Amino acid sequence: MIEKVLIANRGEIALRILRACREMGIKTVAVHSTADVDAMHVRLADESVCIGPPAAKDSYLSIPAILSAATISNADAIHPGYGFLSENANFAEMVEEHGFTFIGPSADHIRLMGDKIAAKVAVIAAGIPVVPGSEGAIRDAAHALEESRKIGFPVIVKATAGGGGRGMKIAETKDDITEAFNFASAEALAAFGNGDCYIEKFLTKPRHIEVQILADNFGNVIHLGERDCSLQRRHQKLVEEAPSPALDNAARKEIGEIVSKAIAKIGYRNVGTIEFLYEKGKFYFIEMNTRLQVEHPVTEAICGIDLVREMLRVASGEPLGFTQEDVKFSGHAIECRINAEHPETFMPSPGKVGDYHAPGGLGVRVDSGLYSGYTVPPHYDSLIAKLIVSGNNRNECLMRLRRSLDEFVIDGLHTSIPLHQRIMEAPAFVCGDYDIHWLGRFVEGELDSDGDE
Ligand code: ADP
Repeated sequence: MIEKVLIANRGEIALRILRACREMGIKTVAVHSTADVDAMHVRLADESVCIGPPAAKDSYLSIPAILSAATISNADAIHPGYGFLSENANFAEMVEEHGFTFIGPSADHIRLMGDKIAAKVAVIAAGIPVVPGSEGAIRDAAHALEESRKIGFPVIVKATAGGGGRGMKIAETKDDITEAFNFASAEALAAFGNGDCYIEKFLTKPRHIEVQILADNFGNVIHLGERDCSLQRRHQKLVEEAPSPALDNAARKEIGEIVSKAIAKIGYRNVGTIEFLYEKGKFYFIEMNTRLQVEHPVTEAICGIDLVREMLRVASGEPLGFTQEDVKFSGHAIECRINAEHPETFMPSPGKVGDYHAPGGLGVRVDSGLYSGYTVPPHYDSLIAKLIVSGNNRNECLMRLRRSLDEFVIDGLHTSIPLHQRIMEAPAFVCGDYDIHWLGRFVEGELDSDGDE
């Protein structure tokens, strides 16, 4: 078994990993930039190492700094969390080359799924349905037009190296395609150093539904059901729930089985998420994330499985401790991502936290490194807390979520709590009747105060 884990991350996810380690008797090493000296994950870890100045590129993204910290602290494994280096195949490779265990999939699988064009080819071969689109990379604007005509407008131009909603542009008609192609490839080149793009049919009313999988080194693969992450603004998720109000048990079982079979065929290990768009009863693969996801707690809440514990067990070479038949789903869970940003303008709002009070009670989980007097640094992602609420059914969950949001006090900063309070009252959300475009229109005020068109 792994005995000492270096957590190559910060914020709530570093704390989340630390907690699982501690419950398993595993020692933890926190790394931090000079801006994070007072962070909760640093305070609670067994050891901590400063790995550089505030800018992420010089600290949390610095492979030499992280490998040096693992060496001097005598860690035997590295957990990357999400974001930062978690989907960097070179990092996973170097971790292993330096004699540490990478807590995640193989570098080859990270590389494969990180190239969205190659990923689509691989999953088609493994039996997963995909969004109709171009084969391979688009050469130039003329090629973009030719492929879009074959697919039929509207289309979406996407970067093969894309992530975090960047490198994507919609073209409604043939008049938009040159601009969309130039925009997406320039943005992708600037953000990822790779401007290659492909084109997909743009689905107008889909839901975003993703399936959580867990696989060991012995060919055992199970799925832990789906999460509905359709509440997004600018392709960034804000609210996630499990199970999806849009699926019945037959659809849930069907997609779970397709995914498990495909993952076994691909030979993947550890945790992963297969993301789909779901429209008119059909699933269309969009990408696979080869890491733990921000929204993993909603899955944990309905199946009672600690995903980080399983990641650590699999990375230690243990077989999965249960089968698909052992997994029992119960109740409903919703997660609100609480960001340090203005609830209407979405301007970032870092700064010092005044009074702080987190909600509690049955079925309420808060994953956050915040405390009164803590200063949220301006250098990183604006996610400061995750509120995960569960109940016996969706209605109970919603009632509990509303009262938990009302109890939550984070003074001194603007946060997205008021926006979540509005969403939880909107009839469209209450009825579970929303698609991936609903939230964007809701916040831009195109919908009336009921959230109806
Ligand atoms: P990223 O890796 O940047 O998150 P994804 O491929 O996962 O990119 O897509 C992110 C979001 O963009 C999806 O959840 C969905 O809202 C939207 N999107 C992506 N592809 C399509 C499509 N073909 N049609 C409609 N919306 C799409």
